[in-house]
Amino acid sequence: KGQATAPGSLAEVLKGVKLKLVTISGKGGVGKSLVTTSLALGFAMRGYKVGILDGDVYGPTVPKMLGVSNSMLYVDEKSGKIIPVTGPLGIKVVSIEFALPSDDTAVIWRAPLVNQALRDFIAQVDWGSLDVLVVDLPPGTGDAPLTIAQSLQGGLDGSVVVTIPTDISRRIVLKAIDFSRKLNIKVAGVVENMCCFKCPDNGKLYYIFGKDAGRKIAESSGVPFLGGIPIDPDLSQYLDSGRLHEFLASENETAKAILEVVDKL
Ligand code: ADP
Repeated sequence: KGQATAPGSLAEVLKGVKLKLVTISGKGGVGKSLVTTSLALGFAMRGYKVGILDGDVYGPTVPKMLGVSNSMLYVDEKSGKIIPVTGPLGIKVVSIEFALPSDDTAVIWRAPLVNQALRDFIAQVDWGSLDVLVVDLPPGTGDAPLTIAQSLQGGLDGSVVVTIPTDISRRIVLKAIDFSRKLNIKVAGVVENMCCFKCPDNGKLYYIFGKDAGRKIAESSGVPFLGGIPIDPDLSQYLDSGRLHEFLASENETAKAILEVVDKL
């Protein structure tokens, strides 16, 4: 911040965005995309202008959760800029998914190509004026997330680390926190997804993996704990049908738990 930026550079493009967050996870399938999408929707519900860059190039699921997976990106003829897809609540979405011929197409790019594609995406997208940009990284702490995070380096305000509460995930989360710190991205906090199971029959929460694992990991690492999200069959249904925005606007307790995470940022 406060540094001179070259016209057209990544830093220049992202300069006007007030809050740039990245979500990371030590491994796949823990709910990173759910958290990314929820953060974007949560901020949009609070009246902010929000963009999502789905950088999870090997498993782009953000468009599906937002119900825009059949959309396409266009290039504006006059400006030559990429026009993002507009999702619920006016969220601007850019994802590699929009450029793939079908949902089942695998991206087998190596890291340098991913890096270039991401740079092009960010630099050539007409984001307009944004308050918040949320970036979804590929899972893990390997080559792909590293390359993408590095291409955004200097431009990110914080990382949100997503975990599940099993003992095995503990070491993996510590790795993710270390990853963020090594890249000089401040850890905004840890979210514990699947903290417990919400029984659809009686609404009770069952802590099947034990309680407070995420909080303990966060505390022992000196980073904020942002909250827990139950495994909720209702949530799952809304996610599968691309209606996460409707779920978050409902009176559901899980929706409230998710929005509490947003309010802590
Ligand atoms: P990741 O991005 O870490 O790979 P996703 O966010 O894609 O994980 O979530 C993996 C799958 O689990 C998705 O199908 C999602 O709908 C489901 N899921 C994630 N979190 C929950 C939850 N708290 N309740 C119900 N389903 C969930």
